[in-house]
Amino acid sequence: MKTLKPLTLTVLALLSCPLMAASGSSSAAKEPWQLAEATEVWTPVPAIVTANENTPPSDAIVLFDGTSLNQWQGAEGGDAKWTVKNGAFTVAPKTGDIKTKASFCDAQVHVEWMTPTKTTGDDGKELTGQGRSNSGIFLQEQYEVQVLDSYNNKTYSNGQAGSIYKQHIPLVNPTRAPGVWQTYDIIFTAPEFSDDKTLTSPGRITVLLNGVLVQNNVEIQGATTWIGKPVYTAHGCAPLRLQDHGNPVSFRNIWIRKL
Ligand code: MG
Repeated sequence: MKTLKPLTLTVLALLSCPLMAASGSSSAAKEPWQLAEATEVWTPVPAIVTANENTPPSDAIVLFDGTSLNQWQGAEGGDAKWTVKNGAFTVAPKTGDIKTKASFCDAQVHVEWMTPTKTTGDDGKELTGQGRSNSGIFLQEQYEVQVLDSYNNKTYSNGQAGSIYKQHIPLVNPTRAPGVWQTYDIIFTAPEFSDDKTLTSPGRITVLLNGVLVQNNVEIQGATTWIGKPVYTAHGCAPLRLQDHGNPVSFRNIWIRKL
């Protein structure tokens, strides 16, 4: 049998060594900026949205511009009967809820609201708890972000302003006094249902009240209900609904961005 020469053995050893092979690759020769390029992603390019202070983003659907309720209707159809005045609109008690004519799924929602400075009822008695300037913002007509005068007004924690009514207590209470405008900024992920109407993905919601986080991507447990446990019923995209709870709460500057 022929014996391999020392030079042949050296060549074989070099070829079989991965480290040696890598040392000859181009990576070691690249500059840091060239290595950084490997993790740059250039597409898709985010759409340009103009976002000036105190005006809706350019891609928002303005649901109330201060002059008319023509993008709204009664919850059971017909005209929205609430009162428009001075760039805002106010619940006309006992005329019923109102809802948008358009439907929405995942969305970013901005709503400004103000509770009345008069905190007494027709009988002159101080309104308290859930009876004090109650309204609500129902995402997809079903899931209520509570609107209430929660400034020095005790009620159950999962029913105060900033709560997902009867489902999630707000993290803190940043509410302002009656007669002062307040803001809700809501990020809503709609629930999803399969063709056989079973829930495949629950809804989720993040809420900032006056710019302060009060709900952090919490899971919605089902349709808002006053009595009993919330339950989901399959549905598609649906309107935004505002609640007539018998109190003259005002709203302005409402816009929504479809996500
Ligand atoms: Mg309510």
